[in-house]
Amino acid sequence: MTNHKYHLGFFPTPIHQLEKLSKIYSNYNIYIKRDDQTGLASGGNKTRKLEYLIRQALDKDSDIVITAGAQQSNHCRQTAAACAVAGIECHLMLRGTKPEIYQGNLLLSHLLGAKIHFTGNDKKEIDLKTLSKKLAPKKSYIIPYGGSNITGAMGFVDAVKELKQQLNKQNLKIDYIFLASSSGGTQAGLMLGMELYNLDIKLIPIKIDKSETNDLSLEEAILKILTTGCRLLNIKKEFNRSDIKLNKNYNQAEYGVLTHREKLAINELAKHEGILLDPVYTGRAFYGMMDILKQKILQSGSNVLFWHTGGLPALFEYAKDF
Ligand SMILES: *Cc1c(COP(=O)(O)O)cnc(C)c1O
Repeated sequence: MTNHKYHLGFFPTPIHQLEKLSKIYSNYNIYIKRDDQTGLASGGNKTRKLEYLIRQALDKDSDIVITAGAQQSNHCRQTAAACAVAGIECHLMLRGTKPEIYQGNLLLSHLLGAKIHFTGNDKKEIDLKTLSKKLAPKKSYIIPYGGSNITGAMGFVDAVKELKQQLNKQNLKIDYIFLASSSGGTQAGLMLGMELYNLDIKLIPIKIDKSETNDLSLEEAILKILTTGCRLLNIKKEFNRSDIKLNKNYNQAEYGVLTHREKLAINELAKHEGILLDPVYTGRAFYGMMDILKQKILQSGSNVLFWHTGGLPALFEYAKDF
């Protein structure tokens, strides 16, 4: 599987302690995994998925990659960058109408050469296949929302191998991993990787979205990837719904809505550690982690790791909120 990758990022991404925050939340040792530093056009977790997805697009002789998301989609921005590197034409289907000024991820996707289609505000399922037919006879490769299928998730199976090697080298044991979960590929990949590489760390995925973007619930989407993944990777375990942990205490505000909670998390990490979170995903997940640590729910003395999944460019779109 591993040679089925197209090189796009710099790995391993660093792991280091958040020393000031570990003093503030003195019951815990807090670490961070820097997937915001994957190196692809300002980084993020989608780089890992795209190494597999772009490889497959090239293997299938695709002329075009098509994917979809919000206007501030980090996935779309990293896909645009990956296509630039691989020399494939990139088409992005973004929700909403064309704004007067391009900001944040939208600006970067444009600069990276993607062809952008605005799909309007109706909630109708965006049809990627319709665009693919329109662009024929050029051959297109469709990447689902967030790159979350088994191919993309393989990037996070590998990430567990990377993590295990790093922890061994740093002589470090992690008890809990916090992460933002939205389209599920990151979580599914990590779960498969934990099985495959025999690593025993509890995941605490913070659910970001209030409503589902697809027809499937997030649990169902993750389970689907897990089932396919077990078959492909020869994992004997049979996952079921109760294996899929999702903390739903922090998604009261709709997707992309910045509240005092995300702002608090962004300010806290920026001012204490010089690290920037994003308003949509990591801001929300980091707030969840802070809140859980404050409540002392987890065993005292635990080593916790925040998996920073990136998203920096989206901050600029929210300038007026700060
Ligand atoms: C896409 C994204 C996530 C969520 O990852 P999924 O695999 O979609 O669950 C988290 N953080 C950032 C910054 C992202 O762009």
